[in-house]
Amino acid sequence: MLVLGGAAEARAVARGVGALRGWRVTVSLAQADRLAGEFSVVPRLGGFGGASGFQDFLRTQQINAVLDATHPFAAQISARTARICAAMGLPHAQVLRSGWSSAPGDNWQFVPDEAAACALVHRSERVFATTGRATLRGYRDFPGARLFLRRLGAVTPVPFDFVELVPGQGPFTVSEEQETFCALNIDRLIVKNSGGTTSRTKLDAARALGLPVVLIERPKPAAELVLKDVSAALKWVESL
Ligand code: NAP
Repeated sequence: MLVLGGAAEARAVARGVGALRGWRVTVSLAQADRLAGEFSVVPRLGGFGGASGFQDFLRTQQINAVLDATHPFAAQISARTARICAAMGLPHAQVLRSGWSSAPGDNWQFVPDEAAACALVHRSERVFATTGRATLRGYRDFPGARLFLRRLGAVTPVPFDFVELVPGQGPFTVSEEQETFCALNIDRLIVKNSGGTTSRTKLDAARALGLPVVLIERPKPAAELVLKDVSAALKWVESL
């Protein structure tokens, strides 16, 4: 079984499949991250070298099935994996947790991308975004006063003078998030609708502070079979 990692669930999926009789697990990560060491098997690291590299890998490693446990917003790898597995006749499924749903007191708006999120920002607003450095270009028409963008790694130069990178490595508690938003005088949040419990704290902090939140909708799932959680993934593997 090839487990494509990237989502928080990937570790439990890999551990669970490895414990099932008759399965050996290979884990693949796009890059080394702080959680790579927590896998039950040593992950292989880095891209496969495009579609043909991925096909070669599946063949040479004699992969019998693929579980895509990449991040809900990793659209390219998920689409390609679905396409290639279908073409090769390999069993394949995507582990995809549900997106967040609002509770009383939340002030949320949903948009398709960062550019659409910018259209909701008012001129004087100081905005905190957690959409990742790779989304920077989507903010080029940002109309607000300042955009604070959380950055997991080192702070590197950015192409827009309205952007300030805020270094930080989660998970963060609700009170840590509240402190950050208060210290920076934040008026609005822009986040990806990633779902899950670990990074929900920023939404709880926003609710407590009465801040509006713009959520970027996730891409449409690429796989024909979508499994909501680890136990559904393990049931599927047992059924193969
Ligand atoms: P992407 O656009 O869907 O994929 C870009 C390329 O990264 C792929 O074509 C592939 O390279 C390589 N790749 C992605 N996942 C891989 C894996 N598990 N193993 C080996 N190679 C992989 O993905 P992305 O949005 O840039 O995200 C990159 C990685 O970070 C993903 O694994 C994702 O799960 C994780 N991540 C993404 C987000 C997000 O918001 N997008 C957030 C947190 C974590 P080749 O073509 O060379 O094979």
